[in-house]
Amino acid sequence: MSKKLEEYVVTIPDFPEPGIMFRDITSVIQDPDGLKLAVDGLANLVKDTDFDLIVGPESRGFIFGVPVAYLTGKGFIPVRKKGKLPRETVSQKYDLEYGQAEVEIHVDAIKPGQKVVIVDDLIATGGSAEAAVKLVEQLGGKVVKMIFVMELAGLKGREKLKDYDVESLIVYE
Ligand code: AMP
Repeated sequence: MSKKLEEYVVTIPDFPEPGIMFRDITSVIQDPDGLKLAVDGLANLVKDTDFDLIVGPESRGFIFGVPVAYLTGKGFIPVRKKGKLPRETVSQKYDLEYGQAEVEIHVDAIKPGQKVVIVDDLIATGGSAEAAVKLVEQLGGKVVKMIFVMELAGLKGREKLKDYDVESLIVYE
């Protein structure tokens, strides 16, 4: 019998800090079957969704966002850390456990009214996903769905994003 997606995820206790259970996706994508399960699984979550573009946050959102965009016949828009995008951008600050981060998107990446799916590897507190939503909305886009390979349900990212349609392939309690 073939392996399930969750069996490709390696969990590393106490990385990068004590108390964190790090859910590693490199062990998923280094295996062709793991990569296929993750990408096909994500594409399947949007098979009945009407949308125009995929938006993916740096950097693991790129790994999954681009192949899903390719499979679904859409373009891919990167959300990057401040200072990385070469043309005019809008930006959004968000809170980290310690301090703040800032992310950006090109102003011409999304036209008002376009329907966007956000793709990322994992939703924990939902802070970075919420920042991506705000960038899309600053440009007049509409987030129609947010899809993740993994969800850490205990951190309640879903509550932060309660107004949005959130789905994940693997849920850890
Ligand atoms: P958050 O903004 O809290 O939802 O987390 C944002 C990003 O941090 C996720 O997209 C992951 O790339 C990474 N991350 C947070 N917690 C973990 C974890 N336990 N294992 C692996 N990656 C994590």
